[in-house]
Amino acid sequence: MTKEEKQKALNDLKEKMLKDETLPLKNGATNLVFGEGNPDAQMFFLGEGPGYWEDIKARPFVGNAGALLNQLLYSIKVPREEVFITNVVCYRPPSNRDPEPGEIEAFQKYIDEMIKIIEPKLIVTLGRFSMGKFLPEARISSVHGKTFRVNWKGSDTVVVPMYHPAAALRSGEVMAQIKADFLKLPEVLKETENSEEKISSEQMSLV
Ligand code: URA
Repeated sequence: MTKEEKQKALNDLKEKMLKDETLPLKNGATNLVFGEGNPDAQMFFLGEGPGYWEDIKARPFVGNAGALLNQLLYSIKVPREEVFITNVVCYRPPSNRDPEPGEIEAFQKYIDEMIKIIEPKLIVTLGRFSMGKFLPEARISSVHGKTFRVNWKGSDTVVVPMYHPAAALRSGEVMAQIKADFLKLPEVLKETENSEEKISSEQMSLV
């Protein structure tokens, strides 16, 4: 698909989501936070769920965690507009509680469709809920910043799990780790571009 075709497919998907009355969390939310960014992005960032400001502004990662995400992207010289950013649930959970498994599952087909349309080279999961989608058995403290090759819905997908930026704002240690993990991304991206065989870090196939 061309970039324009991808944008059109994403717009159509957003319309479909807006009309989907079966989606959980809709009643308590102000807006759908579909996600935003380059429809042709090489990097796809998957967070947990909209918070207060995201719900108001209908945009992902625009509060404090978003400011940190912007800084982290700046550290690797990647403009935010170049990547795509969304969450495992696209309506705000009440009082920012954790998303429940059934809620994550209800949004899954839409997130999968976004990934299928965008065809990113790399999926960066932010926090344990989005990591759980691709690496259900993993513990974030042992796998953060590592590269995994996952067969996702029949296609080879490279996933790098990261701590959630909000966790980094609460802990100096996690902050140091997320900063170091981000600095690895350009190299991981280059390696996936050159050859899938060359992915040097740990690999894991879930299928
Ligand atoms: N935290 C998330 O996981 N997602 C957002 O969009 C904002 C904060």
